[in-house]
Amino acid sequence: MLEFLAMNSLGIYVQVPFCQTKCTYCNFHTGVVARERFAPYVGAVCSEIHGHEGFYASAGVRAECLRDAVVDTVYFGGGTPSLLESRHLQQIIDEIRGAFVAEFAEVTLEADPETVEEEKAAAWVRAGINRVSFGVQSFSDKELAAAGRMHRRADIFRAAPLLRAAGICNISFDLIAGLPHQTTESWQSSLEELIALGPEHVSVYLLEVDEGSRLGKELLRGGVRYSAGAVPGEDDMAEFYEMAQEALRRAGYRHYEISNWAKPGFESKHNLKYWRREPYLGFGAGAHSFSGTQRWANAHDAAEYVRAIESGRLPVEQLEEVTAERALEEELFLGLRQLVGIDVGKIEREYGVALARRFDPLTLAGLVEREGNVVRLAEEKLSVSNEVFVELMK
Ligand code: SF4
Repeated sequence: MLEFLAMNSLGIYVQVPFCQTKCTYCNFHTGVVARERFAPYVGAVCSEIHGHEGFYASAGVRAECLRDAVVDTVYFGGGTPSLLESRHLQQIIDEIRGAFVAEFAEVTLEADPETVEEEKAAAWVRAGINRVSFGVQSFSDKELAAAGRMHRRADIFRAAPLLRAAGICNISFDLIAGLPHQTTESWQSSLEELIALGPEHVSVYLLEVDEGSRLGKELLRGGVRYSAGAVPGEDDMAEFYEMAQEALRRAGYRHYEISNWAKPGFESKHNLKYWRREPYLGFGAGAHSFSGTQRWANAHDAAEYVRAIESGRLPVEQLEEVTAERALEEELFLGLRQLVGIDVGKIEREYGVALARRFDPLTLAGLVEREGNVVRLAEEKLSVSNEVFVELMK
């Protein structure tokens, strides 16, 4: 039975493109909308899930991954999915159970601290959610305020016990390295407070300022609004990342992906599918899907998405065949993100290519390590992994 599940497991991603405010550095396709917009959106997502086979057929999506598929992971991402009412989340999970063979091992909800309430958390557990990815970002109120986040440090300490009391035994905390006003001391303090709260999983992201965001535009024009003058430099960010590596290692977390650490057995089952190129279906505005041979994405605009679904059409914006060349690039790029590394011999056999010439210069430069057939990013070069990928894709 386990082998059957492993061979046919399918992930489902549900995009919830709503936020309470817009963070200064973000330009995702998310909107701050009236709560009245939630129900029609959830209705459209449920229609897409319910009628996925017909929608795919009319949009030219083959989705051969549906054959004998067992859905074992669900991930509600955003935006801020915890803004939805619990009954909305329940409705979507019920729809997935009705439309697919479901054996849920992991059902994750991204939640922002200020949105967590006792009643809601209990309802999430009743709906089947067993993992919360908690958007902590920082424990410094100065940094949170400058970034335009809604919550403060006190909200994190209020919400985390509520999740535990509700029965969530798998919590992931996100931190962002590089927020305006962040210093070595404040970052160290955030790491210590995070570790003291004992989440099972931790993600550390380096701040990416979108050029179209308020902070991005301000940085481009050399201004100081949105604390643009207080954004740490690249060297500081690399130092923050290395501090996180060290602190989390000491606290017993295993570093398993460039941005992710877990207590043993708590690696994200859903996100591992992305890095292992396993199939997943995305539902909702802007959601991406991968069937094994095709990648596609829905229209980003939530209103357009709802209109299209209500008129019986799946608003697919990009539908691409994954060529063998592209698949190979993905194997290398996504595979190397995982610290176990990639089996070069296996990839060479599968794709009929020789990879030595691509890896030898990187090995010589100390950017990757080779051990037999396994190639992995060098531990001390993880903070500059983007440079490695640029070299590798040349
Ligand atoms: S960073 Fe997250 S919470 Fe903030 S606006 Fe963007 S999607 Fe919303």
